[in-house]
Amino acid sequence: MNKLTKKVVIVGGGIAGWLTAGRLAAKHKGNTKQGLNVVLIESANIPAVGVGEGTWPTMRSTLRALGISETDFIRECEASFKQGAKFAKWFDGTEDDFYYHPLVLPQGFGKTDLAAHWLAKQAQTKQKNSHVNSFSNDVCFQEAICEQGLAPKTIRHAEFADVANYAYHLDSAKFAVFLQKHCQEKLGVTHIVDDVIGVNSIDTEADNPTEKGDIISVSTEHNGDIGGELFVDCTGFSSLLLGKHYQVPFKKCDDILFIDTALAVQVPYESVDSPIASHTISTGQEAGWIWDIGLQHRRGVGYVYSSKHSTEAEARAKLAEYVGDKFSSLKVRKIPIVSGHRETFWQNNCVAVGLSAGFLEPLEASALVMVELAAQMISEQLPASREVMDVVAKRFNETALYRWDRIIDFLKLHYILSERTEPFWSDNRDPTTIPQSLQDLMTEWQYRAPADHDFTSNNEVFPAASYQYVLYGMGFKSDYCHTPYAIDDRDFADGQFKKNKVLIDKALSSLPSNRELLDKIKSYGLSRI
Ligand SMILES: Cc1cc2nc3c(=O)[nH]c(=O)nc-3n(C[C@H](O)[C@H](O)[C@H](O)COP(=O)(O)OP(=O)(O)OC[C@H]3O[C@@H](n4cnc5c(N)ncnc54)[C@H](O)[C@@H]3O)c2cc1C
Repeated sequence: MNKLTKKVVIVGGGIAGWLTAGRLAAKHKGNTKQGLNVVLIESANIPAVGVGEGTWPTMRSTLRALGISETDFIRECEASFKQGAKFAKWFDGTEDDFYYHPLVLPQGFGKTDLAAHWLAKQAQTKQKNSHVNSFSNDVCFQEAICEQGLAPKTIRHAEFADVANYAYHLDSAKFAVFLQKHCQEKLGVTHIVDDVIGVNSIDTEADNPTEKGDIISVSTEHNGDIGGELFVDCTGFSSLLLGKHYQVPFKKCDDILFIDTALAVQVPYESVDSPIASHTISTGQEAGWIWDIGLQHRRGVGYVYSSKHSTEAEARAKLAEYVGDKFSSLKVRKIPIVSGHRETFWQNNCVAVGLSAGFLEPLEASALVMVELAAQMISEQLPASREVMDVVAKRFNETALYRWDRIIDFLKLHYILSERTEPFWSDNRDPTTIPQSLQDLMTEWQYRAPADHDFTSNNEVFPAASYQYVLYGMGFKSDYCHTPYAIDDRDFADGQFKKNKVLIDKALSSLPSNRELLDKIKSYGLSRI
C-alpha cells in the first residue's frame, strides 16, 4: 500500500521545531481541511537550548514565507538589525586588529574581479608607504555603516526592503514563543505539550518492504500514541528519534574545530538609549573568541573556548574582563558544545532538523540558516507518498552533508591565517587539522580570488564573496602572476571603487542609528508589503 503524506509529526518546540512547522504548514495549507496536518509535540520539562541570537539574511525570506510581519517580529522578539560580523583580534591580537565580513557583496561582483584590482592597488600603495585601506571598506559600503552604528534602512522603507543587505539579532526565547503563536493561530499547526517517552516502529516484515523500520507513532506521557507519515526530530542535542531511536552515528569534527564550551551571559545596557551595534562583534581570545550581540533590551555575550587550551576559571576571567564591572552580578550559563553532525539526516520516514542533526561552534551564525534551508527543502520537496520518500531522503542527505562540509571548511578558514601565538591558535594552523578540501582551495587561491565556480551547489550557505572577505581581511595575498590580464578592465574597476565611496557618503548622511530606527519601528511600524 502506498501511504500518502497527510500528517507530519514534529517532536521539539525550539526554534528548529517551530520554523519547520511554520514552513510546512504555510506551504501545504495547514489551516485548511484538505491541507497538511502538522502536529508539534513539545516537552514542558525539557527546556529549549535558549541561545542562538545571530541570523543570516535568509531569515527575511523565511519570515515572509511564513506570512510574518517584520514590524510584529521586531516588536515582539527584541530583534535588531545585523549587517555582518566584525572580527577583532583574530589576526595578531593587537588593539587595532579587525576586519569585517559584511552582508553586501563587493561592488561589481560577477562583473569584475575587484579583489584582483584591490590586491594590485594595495601592492602599489604599500610601495609608496602610505595608508592601506581594508578590503571590506574599499569594496563594500557596509563596513562604514556598521562602524557608525547605523541601520541598514530608514523608516520610509517598507518591511523587508533595504539600503544594505541585513539579517537580524533576536531573543531566541521570545522568537520561539512568537513563532508558536503565529503557527497555531495563523497556520493551523496543532501544539501538544507533552513528553515523548517512546517510539513505535514497524520492526517485523511490512507489507511494503521499504517501510521496514518506519516510525508508526511516538508515545507520549499523557496523550497516548501520536501517529503520522513523516516524523521530524527537532529534539535538540538529545536527538531522540534520529540519534537514540535509529542510532545514526554522530560524526565529530573536534579534530578540526576545537571549541567545546560556551559561557553565556545577558548584559544590560547602560541606559535605554545606549547604542545598539548593527553587527555581531567577535573578539579573538587566548583559547577561542567572545561573541557580542546587541538586542533592543540587552546584549548577549559569550565566550566559546577550547577546554584543552583553557580552564573554566581562566575563561570566566576573560569573559569578566570583557564585560566589565557588571559581570559579578550576571548569571553565567555553561553550555557544552560537541562539534559535528549525524552521518545521515533522513532515515526511513524520519528527518532531523536543528541541533538534533548537528552543531558547530556559533561562529558566523550557521545553525539557524541550516535549519531554515532544511525546513525549506522539506516543505518544498515534501514526499507525496512513502513510494517517493527514499528518493527525497537521498537528495536531502547529500545536500545536507555537502552543506556541513562547506561550513566546516569556512569556519576553519577563519583560524588558519591568524598569526596569534597562543597554543589554541598555533594548533589551529597545524596542517593535520585542516580538511583536505580547504587545503586544496587555499592552494588555488594563491593564484586568484575565491569565485562562484569553486563551489558546486546553486544554494551555497556561504558564497565566494564571504570567503574573499575572510581571506583578504586576514591579510592573505593572491598573486595573479599567471593571469596579469585579470586587471585589464581597470577603468570599470576604478569606477566601482569610486561608486563605493559615493555609497559610503550617501549612507552615512542618510541612515539613522540602529537604535533610532528600532525605536521608530516600535512606535510607528514599517509600511507593510
Ligand atoms: C552557545 C550557543 C550559541 C549559539 N548561537 C547561535 C547563533 O548565534 N546563531 C545561530 O544560528 N545559532 C546559534 N546557536 C544554535 C541555536 O541555538 C540552535 O540552532 C537553535 O536554537 C535551534 O535549536 P533546536 O530547536 O534544534 O533545539 P532546542 O532549542 O534545544 O529545542 C529542543 C526542543 O525539543 C524538546 N524536546 C526534547 N526532548 C523531548 C521529548 N522527549 N519530548 C518532547 N519534546 C522534547 C524540548 O522541549 C525543546 O522544545 C547557538 C547554540 C549554542 C549552544
